[in-house]
Amino acid sequence: MQRPAAQALLRAHRELVKQGYGLLIFDAYRPWYVTKIFWDATPPDKHEFVADPAQGSRHNRGCAVDLSLYDLETGSEIQMTGGYDEMSERSYPSYRGGSEEERAHRDLLRREMEKQGFTVYPSEWWHFDYQDWNEYAIQNIPFEQIAERH
Ligand SMILES: [Zn+2]
Repeated sequence: MQRPAAQALLRAHRELVKQGYGLLIFDAYRPWYVTKIFWDATPPDKHEFVADPAQGSRHNRGCAVDLSLYDLETGSEIQMTGGYDEMSERSYPSYRGGSEEERAHRDLLRREMEKQGFTVYPSEWWHFDYQDWNEYAIQNIPFEQIAERH
């Protein structure tokens, strides 16, 4: 991720640790060619759940993260209203179904991320964009090259 976004994510993590949770990160920076693969592999009626390669994804800018919570004591992933990458209405952050506990955890994640300058994606409770995403270019650097630069 871009450094300011990564630092904001770390602040959210530290706040959640105080409450007994850790951040479980599924995805962050993603090269543009991967966005193209996702789009091509997804049926058109599910395109609201994947970024249009013509626009690029905020993941391509290093300013988006897909994540959930895990219980620090047990190490288990926290059950949310729907699964990660599930293409259904259960993925909406506004979804009213699921258990009260699932909604409370989903909303806790959102609240702590919003405090640090992230915005939740309206179709995916796990996807957050960092506030300054439009200041960063769409990147197509493969992961191997990032590792080499490190
Ligand atoms: Zn995402």
